[in-house]
Amino acid sequence: MKEISSGCIAYRKNGKIYLLMILDRFGYWTFPKGKVEDDESLEKTAVREVKEETGIDVEIERYLGETHYRYTHSERGNIDKTVYWFLAKAVSFDIFPAYGEITRAEWIELESAKKLCGYKTDSEILEKLKI
Ligand code: ATP
Repeated sequence: MKEISSGCIAYRKNGKIYLLMILDRFGYWTFPKGKVEDDESLEKTAVREVKEETGIDVEIERYLGETHYRYTHSERGNIDKTVYWFLAKAVSFDIFPAYGEITRAEWIELESAKKLCGYKTDSEILEKLKI
């Protein structure tokens, strides 16, 4: 079964560069994303999911690339997942985490974000990132 999600690497600059990271339900630090709904553009999904999961408003700057991974869902079996990622500038700064969907959300300084990143595919996107 295939699944498609879309999300943002959202940043803000305040002398240093900070990325908006979430601690997901599975205990890994990553970036806000979620499933694309019917007839929704990838950009719209990405912006909506950032808002829903963290309360942050963003404006997309550019497409960064896609990641792929597989996991096994308890009911739906093997899932072949593609996630589309966008670079986005934050236009609000106060985080309101959607507890239940995620465990935590924080602004993390860029170099710390690279270290904290829990999934290899995310790290690969971050390594290529130019802000
Ligand atoms: P979405 O946020 O797209 O709605 P979800 O919360 O339903 O998705 P995922 O975040 O895809 O589900 O997580 C499902 C499984 O895949 C979990 O076991 C999670 O740890 C794992 N997973 C999530 N992201 C990655 C990744 N980048 N690389 C490998 N495994 C991942």
